[in-house]
Amino acid sequence: MGPVVKSAYRNPNSDRSASRERFCDVEEDNSKNMTRTHNAKIVCTLGPASDDRETIGELAGAGMAVARLNASHGTPEDRAAIIERVQAVDAARDPPVATMLDLSGPEVRTAALDAPVRIEAGSEIGFVVGDEASSTEVGLSVPITATEVGDRVLLDDGRIETTIVGIDGETVRARVDSGGELGGRKGVNVPGVDLGLDALTAADRRELEMAADQEVDFVAASFVGSAADIHAVEAALDDLDMDVPIIAKIERAGAVSRLGEIIDAAYGVMVARGDLGVECPMQEVPVIQKRIIGLCREEGTPVITATEMLDSMTTERRPTRAEASDVANAVLDGTDAVMLSGETAVGADPVRVVETMGDIIDEAEASEEYAVLREDRVPDPGDSRTDVLARSARYLARDLGASAVVAATESGYTGLKAAKYRPDVPIVATTPDERVRRRLGLSWGTTARHAPFTGPGEGTDTVIRNAVQAAIGAGVAESGDTVVVLAGLMTELERANTTNMLKIHVAAEIVASGRSIVAGQATGPIHRLSTGDLADVPDGAVVCLSHGFDEEFSGETAKIAGIVDAHEGMTGYAAMVARELDVALVGDVSLPAEIGDGTVVTVDGERGVVYEGDLAAGPREP
Ligand code: PGA
Ligand code: MN
Repeated sequence: MGPVVKSAYRNPNSDRSASRERFCDVEEDNSKNMTRTHNAKIVCTLGPASDDRETIGELAGAGMAVARLNASHGTPEDRAAIIERVQAVDAARDPPVATMLDLSGPEVRTAALDAPVRIEAGSEIGFVVGDEASSTEVGLSVPITATEVGDRVLLDDGRIETTIVGIDGETVRARVDSGGELGGRKGVNVPGVDLGLDALTAADRRELEMAADQEVDFVAASFVGSAADIHAVEAALDDLDMDVPIIAKIERAGAVSRLGEIIDAAYGVMVARGDLGVECPMQEVPVIQKRIIGLCREEGTPVITATEMLDSMTTERRPTRAEASDVANAVLDGTDAVMLSGETAVGADPVRVVETMGDIIDEAEASEEYAVLREDRVPDPGDSRTDVLARSARYLARDLGASAVVAATESGYTGLKAAKYRPDVPIVATTPDERVRRRLGLSWGTTARHAPFTGPGEGTDTVIRNAVQAAIGAGVAESGDTVVVLAGLMTELERANTTNMLKIHVAAEIVASGRSIVAGQATGPIHRLSTGDLADVPDGAVVCLSHGFDEEFSGETAKIAGIVDAHEGMTGYAAMVARELDVALVGDVSLPAEIGDGTVVTVDGERGVVYEGDLAAGPREP
């Protein structure tokens, strides 16, 4: 393990952020520290304006946590190539960028057209299944014969409104209440009617086959109506041997009335306001949004607020005030993520949109109002042990003035629980599983990092140490900070999804690691020796020997508290002395230059690592 890369972490809520600033001038790694992070994450829909490698990289730097691929446009092959680009961007940087494949589901669309046709108010038109459309007959992608006289059929986001007056065999006849120009492949909504369509279409299945090869991180299911629809998608994923979390898009009135079961069945939920505003009375959407977000917060289910958030920026440089308020209000509602659709897929300046969204999020998250809301609506723990621990971690972090809640998580479950209780310090979720790492990027307040569960030393200790090093690497904690650690290990007893540990831990940064030569632990100021003369060595020092050192010690060896040696042998001179003096020695290690003489370090001879600071001293005053 090399020296830990420090990166800037921007946390507008933390009054500790000032102390983080100094990370900026240490060990520059621009690809890592340029990224903006927020508690509320940003989902960007990719499209012609944004699906090239360079723009994807810029979007990631601007704060894109999830790249959404909309299966309603383009081909599966195009999407496969874009997913690979996103994965390449993710591999080159922290924090993660996940991919979400948004399936079209049982949507109804009008026929593809070369030129728009005029649908006149007051006229009567027929709906049939077909590939053509005229001002009297409109071809649809699927039959809508399950409707009844009096049902409304809305075209193109509700711009054209019709009411059914009769059904003759395969043709559904409707009166046009408000007309307009109808373009090709426009969405059709039949509010409140179950058209009896399968949750998954043939096209969806083809998309999933592509997704199976590409390892997408999320699958979004459109127009779901019940938990059974989620299970149908799950079954299709199972058939393809895919274990991918499902995001249920709430965009039908029927789904709103079955929210509870859908939230239970899905990994996450999307408030899909576009179709929702056509399927339900528009004026109900704001309250439905609040209700969905509230329920998801209670359950710890990731929730995305979607559609038209900064719509005018598809063409304009600035959003409207109403749009800025909309984003801020979703943040204040407690959403995990906010989504951009056309703004980033076909917009004039996708990166600027993400930056603008980030500015709005930051402002909302820095507000007193936000802090109060968060404190006021901490969910009850219920009866799961993991919940109780994660909720406690939240309060412990607050009351101890901790820098972070660190969640070491194997399946992601403990990470989700840490986010559920919305602590007022950053959450660092560490996992050995790359898919879990990317997936947790969607969750509120969570900085997801890779960290192995194994290493020198045993079991839980190693897991905690790796997790805390990852938190230091992410720039959210530094040596001497208190962190609250949750660990969810799937034990040999297979108690999967069990968080079995909560610990108050003082972070100590590993500045160098080598080999364990002589066990023991020692803390003291570093003193580099170029000769064996110990005259200048301060009492209780940790002496540091370079490769070139080949003398014997002369003087008072009792002043030596520990040894850091570039030589690696167990039987070298220094090793013999250390054994004789009974002081810790770490071998095969060279200290980075910035650890100057006088810097206090702790030598851990057991694990073969050198930490910055005094490990035994306990937490630094915040
Ligand atoms: P869509 O879903 O963009 O795929 O239609 C989101 C919505 O309906 O709001
Ligand atoms: Mn939709």
